[in-house]
Amino acid sequence: MQKQILIVEDERPIREMIAFGLRRGGFEVREAADVSEARSSIANQRPDLVLIDWMLPDMSGLELTRTLKRDEDTRDMPIIMLTARSEEQDKVMGLDSGADDYVTKPFSPRELVARINAVLRRSADASAADVIEVEGLVLDAASHRVTAGDQTVQLGPTEYRLLAFFMTHAERVYSRAQLLDRVWGGNVYVEERTVDVHIRRLRKALEPFNFDRFIQTVRGSGYRFSTRVE
Ligand code: CA
Repeated sequence: MQKQILIVEDERPIREMIAFGLRRGGFEVREAADVSEARSSIANQRPDLVLIDWMLPDMSGLELTRTLKRDEDTRDMPIIMLTARSEEQDKVMGLDSGADDYVTKPFSPRELVARINAVLRRSADASAADVIEVEGLVLDAASHRVTAGDQTVQLGPTEYRLLAFFMTHAERVYSRAQLLDRVWGGNVYVEERTVDVHIRRLRKALEPFNFDRFIQTVRGSGYRFSTRVE
């Protein structure tokens, strides 16, 4: 089935150029010229992904992204921000607002299609992974339950989110800052030391089952979930 993309961009020539490229890339395209049009379009039928321009007449694209990511109904709808700005700080702000990716103008239609496909793939993976099992450690996303064999692993909510993130992103190293951003959410102010505290609790909870070995410290870099022994 064709994926539906909503383009939110006030400048008509740019919007039409993007729409043309996306239709050629195999997408079904809807267009909105401002935030109020975008809102009613989303309320009417939820698109599979939204492209939001940073500069919009009635509200900034950044603010629209924030509100969509705060709303329970639209939280998991992927968003890619479009912007003419290439400053690193803007990129950080864009991603902090909850955008799933960030594309700087000018971009080629082919690049945009590739980025959209990557974001859609990622979000499909995340929702498909209801039950993850690694060598007998089972995480059930629907019930928020973690089991080892026939026993329940007792975890606090933060440790659960941490483990869920690790199990869906295994074999990759994450810094404390990255973990804070991905597990705690970008807008929360928490000290990096907090990550260590929760890693310790997580290991302690997994220890009776000998699964604490999966939570590995990578010296000078951060942490990794891995079944391999270093
Ligand atoms: Ca614009």
